[in-house]
Amino acid sequence: MTYWIVYKDDPISNELKQHLEQKIQLELDSLSPNLVIVIGGDGTFISAVHMFPNAIFFGIHTGHLGFYANYTLEEVDQLIEDINHKTYHIEKIDVLQCQLKTSQETIEEFAINEMTLITPPKTLILEVEVDGQLLETFRGTGLCISTAYGSTAYNKSLHGAVVDPNLKTLQITEIAGINSNQYRTLSSPLLLSHKRRIKLETKEETEVFVTIDHLSYQLHHFKSADISLKLEKVTVAYHKETSYIQRVKRTFLK
Ligand code: NAP
Repeated sequence: MTYWIVYKDDPISNELKQHLEQKIQLELDSLSPNLVIVIGGDGTFISAVHMFPNAIFFGIHTGHLGFYANYTLEEVDQLIEDINHKTYHIEKIDVLQCQLKTSQETIEEFAINEMTLITPPKTLILEVEVDGQLLETFRGTGLCISTAYGSTAYNKSLHGAVVDPNLKTLQITEIAGINSNQYRTLSSPLLLSHKRRIKLETKEETEVFVTIDHLSYQLHHFKSADISLKLEKVTVAYHKETSYIQRVKRTFLK
């Protein structure tokens, strides 16, 4: 059993990293660790998951409670004991599986928060299909597809619903959709069952920006994106369960 620490570059996280390295009785492994301790915020957690998708994650939030971390700064001793004596429990988080097609290649991605397709300088026209049926033709800046865990991130800024992660859902939210006699869309967030498959397709190949959690890149000759929810793909450790309501309250209402 090996471990690695991914940490935010700030004084608290740096100091805590050194403390943990003295106390954890496992070998460090930067290539393929079994356990990953993440010190920082939800953003640090997301980047750690993309580095080591198959590890078991121990999140310590150094600020407010956050949505992915299950240990607070006051619970660091508990975390050390849990790792050294294997007294932790695990839960599994769902991820978006995205297949992006251009005229030249097919790219496979996963996201724990969301994926977006955007064309900031001009409008993007996308056919939105659910389970092979055309729902609408969207025209606007772009679309965001989020998980329940990601519902409190970018999705929330787009006035999407905050979704209890016990509900296995995909959510589509519009980014500055145009509604006119020519283009008519739902204009409200759409929550879908995890059994649904979403397809976003352009009639003509186009340039788009893709964001996958904290990552982003430009795609030339974009044709389509197939998006679905894969259940229980990322493993997160905890000692005691933290109420989702408390997470929402501590992040947004205090
Ligand atoms: P960042 O732009 O440096 O920070 C994004 C902020 O979102 C941080 O405050 C982070 O919390 C918070 N966050 C991340 N995941 C969250 C979640 N599931 N629920 C609630 N808050 C969450 O970028 P980053 O740290 O690399 O994170 C990437 C994320 O930024 C993307 O997945 C996207 O959701 C989000 N984003 C939001 C907007 C927007 O709201 N307009 C625009 C672009 C991207 P911590 O402080 O705990 O790290």
